[in-house]
Amino acid sequence: MSNRPNDLSSYWMPYTANRAFKQDPRMIAAADGMFYKSADGRDILDGTAGLWCVNAGHNARRITEAVQKQVAELDYAPSFQFGHPKAFEFANRVADLFPDGMDHVFFTNSGSEAVDSALKIALHYHRMRGDAARTRLIGRERGYHGSGFGGISVGGIVKNRMYYGSLLTGVDHLPHTHDLTLNAFSRGCPEHGAEKADGLIDIATLHDPSTIAAVIVEPMAGSTGVLLPPKGYLKRLRELCDRYGILLIFDEVITAFGRLGANSAADYFGVKPDIITTAKGITNGVVPAGAVIVSNEIYQSAMDNADAPIELFHGFTYSGHPLAAAAGLASLDTYAQDDLFERAAALAPYWEEAIHSLKDAPNVIDIRNLGLVGAIELEPRAGAAAARGTEAMIKAWERGVMIRVTGDIIALSPPLIIEKSQIDQIFGTLSSVLDSIA
Ligand code: PMP
Repeated sequence: MSNRPNDLSSYWMPYTANRAFKQDPRMIAAADGMFYKSADGRDILDGTAGLWCVNAGHNARRITEAVQKQVAELDYAPSFQFGHPKAFEFANRVADLFPDGMDHVFFTNSGSEAVDSALKIALHYHRMRGDAARTRLIGRERGYHGSGFGGISVGGIVKNRMYYGSLLTGVDHLPHTHDLTLNAFSRGCPEHGAEKADGLIDIATLHDPSTIAAVIVEPMAGSTGVLLPPKGYLKRLRELCDRYGILLIFDEVITAFGRLGANSAADYFGVKPDIITTAKGITNGVVPAGAVIVSNEIYQSAMDNADAPIELFHGFTYSGHPLAAAAGLASLDTYAQDDLFERAAALAPYWEEAIHSLKDAPNVIDIRNLGLVGAIELEPRAGAAAARGTEAMIKAWERGVMIRVTGDIIALSPPLIIEKSQIDQIFGTLSSVLDSIA
């Protein structure tokens, strides 16, 4: 096959309008700090930390150099039956950042794998305790838990589910918490809607709680448009799970590693789940990696497995990959040495003011913010007309700012190294972009 540098046809891009993209591609050639460099040589301010992952900014030297050193020293080691020291060190360091009593870490290569692993671990836990009837899994409407079959089954995005057959059986969904009639333009978590957690009472009443294994939610739903938990909601969900003996899983693929100005959302909200899934910021996006962090009780239930010498029949060729471990350790060092989580917390009030300054821009029906996350929701156009969000994303790119859109919701989550002047640049650009959209 000849070299075809300008031929875009072979690559089938994920979650992308391939036909439209290939007509008018947005190509990225390089990155440094807060900026991407487009293929045509323009600086693009990264308002989204890539895909919510580059928390320490691009090309952070400590991380990229650690990966270069690691690949020269140990490129790969089998993850089954053999170990290498950095994977163990990385697990210890990850566990240190999560709540007390959650001291065990299972490595994956992505958020999707972390979610499917967590669901399996939850089922395994109940079985190990002789409670094998607990097989039901509960997700939430408008939840996103990656693209694996487990994740799309507990997830609540219709288009991610409707093409793929019957999915996992025995799955129910809590109602989502997004309510613009009561909560529009809230700052931080909205006042109304904690009682939506009581959807779990209805599900438990319908099926009997003794059949339910686990509930999985994003503490803050990111990919479906930054849906914040109403005040008291997560605590109420925790109490109900305790009442019924159901495991609570927080999907923290986005919210861990400083995004909210804390180690994790569990930490930020003061609610401790039984299992946490994470990915993205765990390696600053530099090497693909994910993790499942479990309570000591769950880990012990597996270690006590008398069925077999191997305590959990599950894993991946690249679990705890040397490059991921090296990138992860250097990322955690960078976050700590540069106080990036504290920095995010300190910048959050400025961010809040800046994003809410767009409340009178055309077509804006809601603005939301928490930590260094924000969303601007636009009024959908009638009928099948193209989403305003997509138009905003393309115009922002042309004007030098990367934003992310889900339909008509603009989501923002910059690297935690952002300066105030760059926050101003994001919202100044967005203001002109929104003014230009009919
Ligand atoms: N869970 C959540 C909450 C996510 O935000 C994402 C990715 N946006 C995933 C799972 C899937 O992660 P990945 O794309 O790494 O598989």
